[in-house]
Amino acid sequence: MGEEEKVKKEALEIIGQFQNLPRMVVFDLDHTLWPFYCECCDEDEMPSLYPHAEGILLALKEKGIDVAIASRSPTPDIAKTFLAKLGIRSMFVAEEIFSSWTHKTEHFQRIHRRTGVPFSSMLFFDDEDRNIEAVSKMGVTSIYVGNGVNLRALRQGMSEFLQKSESSSGARCK
Ligand SMILES: [Mg+2]
Repeated sequence: MGEEEKVKKEALEIIGQFQNLPRMVVFDLDHTLWPFYCECCDEDEMPSLYPHAEGILLALKEKGIDVAIASRSPTPDIAKTFLAKLGIRSMFVAEEIFSSWTHKTEHFQRIHRRTGVPFSSMLFFDDEDRNIEAVSKMGVTSIYVGNGVNLRALRQGMSEFLQKSESSSGARCK
C-alpha cells in the first residue's frame, strides 16, 4: 500500500469515529497544504504537498465532505497552476484565492454565498493565528496547524467540531 493510501485509510478511520461531521472542510494553501509561499515560486516549478495532505483530501471526498480553499496569496495564478499540476484542483467546490486585509472574512463570506453551507457546518485549517481568530468569530471551527495539515490536526478538527456542535445543540434545548 502506498503512503498516500495509508494516510487516506487512517484519515477514514479518524473521520469514522465522529458522529457529527462538518459539511465542508476549508484549507489555507501556503504552509497548510504545501510547505512554501507560492508567491516566491516560479510557475514552471513542480510543487509538492505536505505528506498527509492528499490522503486527507481523498478521505474527506470519499466521506462526502466538500473541500474548499481560502487563501490570501497575492499570486492566485501560480496557486491555481500548482493545484492543477498536483491534479487536485477539481476536488475543490470553492476556490477563493485573493489578497485581502480582512484576514479571510471576505473569503468565507464568498464561500458561503457560493455553496450555501453555513459557517457552523465548516471546519477550517490555517497556519496563521490572525486568520484563525477572525474566522472562528464567524462561527467556523478553526484549527491552527504548525507544520502543515496532518492526521493529528484532522483528529483535533473533527473533535473540536463535534464539541462545538454538541454545545450549540445543547444550548438550543434549554
Ligand atoms: Mg498560510
